[in-house]
Amino acid sequence: MAFAVRFLDRRGARTPRDGGRAIRRFLSGIRIMFHGITRLAASGLRYSADLILPPVCVSCATLITHHNMLCPQCWSSLYLISPPVCDRLGIPLPGYDGESPHISVQAVANPPVFSRARAAAHYSGIMRRLIVRFKFEDKHEPLPLFVRLMRQAGRELLSEADLMVPVPLHRLRLLQRRFNQSVLLARGIGRLCGVPVEAMALRRVRRTEAQVGLTQEARQANVAKAFSVHPRYRKSLAGKRIVLIDDVLTTGSTANACATALLDAGAARVDVLAIALVAHGLAEREEEDPGYARFGG
Ligand SMILES: [Zn+2]
Repeated sequence: MAFAVRFLDRRGARTPRDGGRAIRRFLSGIRIMFHGITRLAASGLRYSADLILPPVCVSCATLITHHNMLCPQCWSSLYLISPPVCDRLGIPLPGYDGESPHISVQAVANPPVFSRARAAAHYSGIMRRLIVRFKFEDKHEPLPLFVRLMRQAGRELLSEADLMVPVPLHRLRLLQRRFNQSVLLARGIGRLCGVPVEAMALRRVRRTEAQVGLTQEARQANVAKAFSVHPRYRKSLAGKRIVLIDDVLTTGSTANACATALLDAGAARVDVLAIALVAHGLAEREEEDPGYARFGG
């Protein structure tokens, strides 16, 4: 404090207003100095940690410059989804060059309950392996990558959202897996864009069979009435624009069942955001994967 007084004396504060300005300048100087020191300490710690555990590609373990990222080769083999996409289903519409949002033939033939879906990438190759390892082998290194990609793919949806609700797991599956991947994704996205997450609003009240190998009709029957909104949360969902967070969008049966429960509880609109999308022929791909087939959603 004595230093502060000497500092103010030197600044020649003559009036109370001058004194106020000088104090603000002094405090701002201290803040900038403190910020510089903490940044220097953080970068030093990061450098030391990098020496012990150098950053490696989350897919192939090649040395790279930043943690939790992909090497250039793995990155270039991701099938990221970029516009133009169907405004309802989020599936790519190659060749469409119109200005206004376009609805795919699939969405017209079979309109979803939710308003719009978006996904960051196709569920294939490296992306499929990362998701399977994330869900079934507790390999969470790609989580920051998933979160950034989803935020990018869902920018429009998130900018209009009041709330994010993750697709819930049945409590027995949650006990088995110990975490809900959709909750981790929703919380990560929430930290980046500030949209609140209501992780307990939606419940999976009926344990469903794994969806692997089922036709679209069988999937719909399998998840029908599997979800409900906890009565305690009905008020907080009423009139809200909700983004439902899922890991992989397949036929949309789960997303539709969740959207039905949320809309019945009074939500104004439900959009869906996922890491990856199986545009068509999903069952064959999932059956190739013993991990996915064994555990299901
Ligand atoms: Zn790699």
